[in-house]
Amino acid sequence: MTCPAPLFRRRETTPVRCGDVLIGGNAPVSIQTMTKCDTRDVKATVKEIRQATALGAQIVRVAVVDKEAAQAIGVIRDRVLCPVVADIHFDYELALLSLDAGADKIRVNPGNLGGKEPLLKVAERARSTGAAIRLGINSGSLEKDILASYGSPTPEAMVESARRHLTYLEDCGIDSIVISLKSSRVKDTVNAYRLMAEHTKWPFHIGITEAGPGTSGIVKSAAGIGALIALGIGDTVRVSLTGPSYKEVEVAKRILQSMESRFFGPDIISCPTCGRTQVDVVSIANQVSHGLRGLSAPLKVAVMGCPVNGPGEAREADIGVACGRDGGILFSRGKVLGRVASDEIVPALVKLAQEYAKSPEGIK
Ligand code: SF4
Repeated sequence: MTCPAPLFRRRETTPVRCGDVLIGGNAPVSIQTMTKCDTRDVKATVKEIRQATALGAQIVRVAVVDKEAAQAIGVIRDRVLCPVVADIHFDYELALLSLDAGADKIRVNPGNLGGKEPLLKVAERARSTGAAIRLGINSGSLEKDILASYGSPTPEAMVESARRHLTYLEDCGIDSIVISLKSSRVKDTVNAYRLMAEHTKWPFHIGITEAGPGTSGIVKSAAGIGALIALGIGDTVRVSLTGPSYKEVEVAKRILQSMESRFFGPDIISCPTCGRTQVDVVSIANQVSHGLRGLSAPLKVAVMGCPVNGPGEAREADIGVACGRDGGILFSRGKVLGRVASDEIVPALVKLAQEYAKSPEGIK
C-alpha cells in the first residue's frame, strides 16, 4: 500500500536544513521533542533522545543552562542519530558555545536575547557552522516596547516581534531560518501563524506552548496543531506536554495522522459502544492495536461492538470486525468475508490486516 497524499495543501516555504532533516519545502512535517532531563547529565540526555527517536522523533532540542550544558552538546551529538537543537534564553554566548560544540540548530527567544547585536552574532556563528536558527517568539516574553504599543501579547504583537528580528537576519543575508510564534492560547497561536504566513516564506515550527498535563494538554495541542495543519501551516511540530518527551512524540504522530498529513501505521476505528454492545470492545480494540504494532501500512481497521450496525457503520474501513456474543463477522469495505469464533477475533483481524497491507486486491 502507498501512503495517500496529504489532505490539506501546505503553504509554500523555503526548505531549511537541520542536520540531515529538511524542514519545509516538500519535506514531510517533521516531529520534534525536547528533553526534560538536565543536559549536563550526558548519559540521561542520550538515553532520553534515543527513546524519543525510537518512537519517531526526528529532531530533539535540549536546554542550555550554562557552559557545561553547551559543551555537553558535542558529546551528546556524537552519541545520537538525530540533529540536536540548542535551546537558548538570555545568554547569547551560550548559543555561540553550543554552535561551536556542534548544535545543528539554535533556538533563540528574541524577546530575551538582548536585541539586534547578540542575535546577529549568533546568526553569523550559525552560518559559519552550517546550523539553522529558529526565531522562537513566545507570547510570554515579548519586547517591552512591543508590549507597550499593543497593550498585551496579541497575535499582532507576536508577529511584529518576529518580523523585526527576521529583518535583522535577512538584512545580513542569513538564509537558514525557521520561525515559531507560540502562545498557550490556541486562538492567539493560530492567528499569529496565519498573520505571519502573509509575510514570509520561511518554514514554521508549530505547537501550543505550555499546553498542560494529561488529557487537557493533548486536547489543546491537537486543537491548535490540527487547526494550523488544516490551514496548510506547519513544517515541523513539537507538542509541549507536562509529561515525558516520548509522550510528546506519540501525540505529535497521532495528530499528524489524524490530519492525514503523515501516516505511521494503521488507524483503529472502534465504535464508542452502546446498549447493544455484547463484548468487551475496549479490550479487543487494545489487543488489535497492540497486534498491529510494527505494521506501517496506512490502512483503516474497524472494531465494532455489534453485528447489527457494525459492518455498515464501518463501511469506509479497509477491514474490520463486528463483534457479537458468539463471535465476530469479518468484513472489508462493508463486504462480509466470514465468521470467526470469539477467541479468534483478534488473531484473525491482525492476520487479515497483514494480508490486506500486502495485497488489498487479494482480500475476498
Ligand atoms: S457498532 Fe453497535 S455496539 Fe457499537 S456503537 Fe454502533 S450500534 Fe452500538
